[in-house]
Amino acid sequence: MLFDRRGVKPKVLLVTTGGTITMLRNEQGSLSPCENASALLEKIPELKTLADVDILPLVNMDSSNFTPDLWIAIAKAIFQRFKEYDGFVIAHGTDTLCYTAAALSFMIQELNKPVIITGAQVPLEDIGSDGRANLINAFRVAISDLAEVAVVFGSQIIRGTRAKKMSAFDMQAFVSVNDVPLGSIGLSIKFSNFAKLRTRKKPLLRAFLNKNVALLPVYPGLKPEVFEFMAENHDGIVLEGYGAGNIPNGEYSLVSSISKASANNVPVVVCTQCVLGSTEMELYQVGRAALDAAAIPAMDMTPETAMVKLMWVLGQSDDISTIESMMQKNFVGEIHEVV
Ligand code: ASP
Repeated sequence: MLFDRRGVKPKVLLVTTGGTITMLRNEQGSLSPCENASALLEKIPELKTLADVDILPLVNMDSSNFTPDLWIAIAKAIFQRFKEYDGFVIAHGTDTLCYTAAALSFMIQELNKPVIITGAQVPLEDIGSDGRANLINAFRVAISDLAEVAVVFGSQIIRGTRAKKMSAFDMQAFVSVNDVPLGSIGLSIKFSNFAKLRTRKKPLLRAFLNKNVALLPVYPGLKPEVFEFMAENHDGIVLEGYGAGNIPNGEYSLVSSISKASANNVPVVVCTQCVLGSTEMELYQVGRAALDAAAIPAMDMTPETAMVKLMWVLGQSDDISTIESMMQKNFVGEIHEVV
């Protein structure tokens, strides 16, 4: 069932931030960030048929240049206008879209309406662009009954904390990691039965972030000094381990460096560098050694979500045991808690 206020068109705020989706051809024929975001509405008149649209051009950049401050700016811009609109659409570059989606999921909780993020692989002006369909579908979901932060891309609706850019080429650029998508877009829009729908909840802005967090993959030959340098210069580290969260404990052992970081109040969260699956750090001695050294398993969170969540958790506490329990607690569908 789609949201309907009997004859009244829903109001949607389109927040533009840049990225391929809003790039238009200039007079010389080359692609550049679109200065006047309202030109988008002229290019896609269907959007005005679906909703009363306001545009908020927040920034205009390639998302590779995004910073955590911009996640906060988007969260605040949406939260301040929450009552005025029935749904929100954010047009975003695809490269860091899943970090922003995770950040918004943690920062605006208890949602009672949809906050949808979309983008495009091919610029709107190019033949075969996916931008038009993605934006139209994002609007369709923004006026639906969903009440979550979600990524709409291709035919999928993906929970904000589960999205991952999987392809630099394919039109279905994003996948839902370790959970089925929230819904799919075909002849109609279908939501899975665990998708959260509109209620009378009162949304909460929880825009706390400690931006001094690093994300580091383990690789054969990673020098413990590199990890220690990172730990000395950050307030928290997400370490992408191998497989089930395995960390070297041999010639290039990171185990004592992990203990040292944790003793210095720098939490070390271990996720898997595999796209799918969860940490199971008790499985091998190489995982257990890191666990015994106080590493915190990220379980089935993606590295992007684990990093954003650690920033958000560290923005609220610097007590290592509180950090550990918050990292393993489910807030917005980002983790399957072990019970
Ligand atoms: N580099 C672009 C960006 O993330 C890629 C895209 O939008 O598809 O802004």
